[in-house]
Amino acid sequence: MIDIKVFVEGPIDANNYLITDVNSNEAVLIDCSSVREEFIAAVKSTGVKLKYILLTHGHFDHVLGIDKFKEVFGVDTYISKADVTQVNLVPSMMHMFAGMNPVKISPVTHFVEDGDEFFIGKTRIVAISTPGHTKGGMCYLIDGKLFSGDTLFQGSVGRCDLTGGDLKSIVRSIKEKLFLLPDETEVYPGHGAKTSIGFEKKYNEILNL
Ligand SMILES: [Zn+2]
Repeated sequence: MIDIKVFVEGPIDANNYLITDVNSNEAVLIDCSSVREEFIAAVKSTGVKLKYILLTHGHFDHVLGIDKFKEVFGVDTYISKADVTQVNLVPSMMHMFAGMNPVKISPVTHFVEDGDEFFIGKTRIVAISTPGHTKGGMCYLIDGKLFSGDTLFQGSVGRCDLTGGDLKSIVRSIKEKLFLLPDETEVYPGHGAKTSIGFEKKYNEILNL
């Protein structure tokens, strides 16, 4: 059994999911988008053993907290190799989104590939490569629930007009990979409300063009 907590954090309100294997109390954080004291305190107060940070992609609004979390929790961050360049772009991306002071993020040195498995207790996490929003976009399947980053949103998909984005790829990733999951699969996106594979198959306007 898993417990899912969502923390909406960072400059563009990204969903950070803390998923805990209830039996072992081991946990994973999917994306880490701020260094806000209240966020860190809230994660601390859960008392979980944070084992990994798994990034869905390297955009600044999903990674800003990784250095601080390494310092506080001693936890390593994993990213797809193809998105390392995105992390390097963080300062310039922040500059582009006016009014933000650029923050430099240390290079990520742990990598995740399509099909890789991680464990929190006996709960298995499977990485699914879904290029399109960025080249190295990753989704994570945990206990039959999908953490979709900025690949699939409720009723929409991630924007494809930034560096490394490609609309054809994102549609292919969703239709040829994510839509193979059972309809009842709950989807927890990188922004906004949760949805399900069945709902998106029926109602997602971009995928039904
Ligand atoms: Zn993004």
